[in-house]
Amino acid sequence: MKLNIGPVLKNEGSALNIDSGVDFGRLDYLGAGFDFREPVRVTGRVRSIGGTLELKGRIDGHYFSSCDLCGKPVEGDISVDFDETLNSETEDYDSECFSLNGTVLDISGLINSLVWENLPMRLLCREDCKGLCGICGCDLNETVCNCDRTVYDPRFAIFNKGR
Ligand SMILES: [Zn+2]
Ligand SMILES: [Zn+2]
Repeated sequence: MKLNIGPVLKNEGSALNIDSGVDFGRLDYLGAGFDFREPVRVTGRVRSIGGTLELKGRIDGHYFSSCDLCGKPVEGDISVDFDETLNSETEDYDSECFSLNGTVLDISGLINSLVWENLPMRLLCREDCKGLCGICGCDLNETVCNCDRTVYDPRFAIFNKGR
């Protein structure tokens, strides 16, 4: 995501408003897929104060994914505020997040890392999701089956071996 900050660099104290969408498509994270069907919205502003660029804003995105345990569709939001300072003169900034080329500031790295950092490590359709039966595959939230799951549970298999 590139911003032309020429006017901001020229006029001390001036600001540039940001309102843009970034396409993420589908992200695969820890074995789960996150489908961003709409662009992630980035809003905020860049201001220059004495050789320093102040970047403040917010990222809003909505993803479609599935429950880690039962596979049911789950949707969620990512909303992150950011507040970054860059020194454009001494080029003192995180090069993984920003690149400054003349008057073009690229903040793709920042937006990328904020979205990745805020994807959930674990995603459940509901807090007490019971998941699927490992034997017959039925949804244990909706059905009770008669399978003896303890035998096939690897945690119990360790104990069974010793007997
Ligand atoms: Zn579930
Ligand atoms: Zn079963």
